[in-house]
Amino acid sequence: MGASIGSFLGVVADRSSRQESFIRTPSHCINCQAKLKWYQNLPVISYIVLQGKCSNCKARIPIKLFVIELIYGIAAITLMASLIVRE
Ligand SMILES: [Zn+2]
Repeated sequence: MGASIGSFLGVVADRSSRQESFIRTPSHCINCQAKLKWYQNLPVISYIVLQGKCSNCKARIPIKLFVIELIYGIAAITLMASLIVRE
């Protein structure tokens, strides 16, 4: 959940800087414009699986996207853990 939000924010930040619609445009490689398949667009997991590279053109995926996903993912896990501990 948190990782998904982080991923979304990362994409929004990245695309808005290039004045591109983030609602109409599906996730794609910033280098070759190849559309990402659903299993290549999973926060954190896909980055590790693809080793930070586009599966089509092997261009490096910006590390900042991974870092943002990771931060939000950790935040979400920490939040959930704190809620479980309290019960
Ligand atoms: Zn590519």
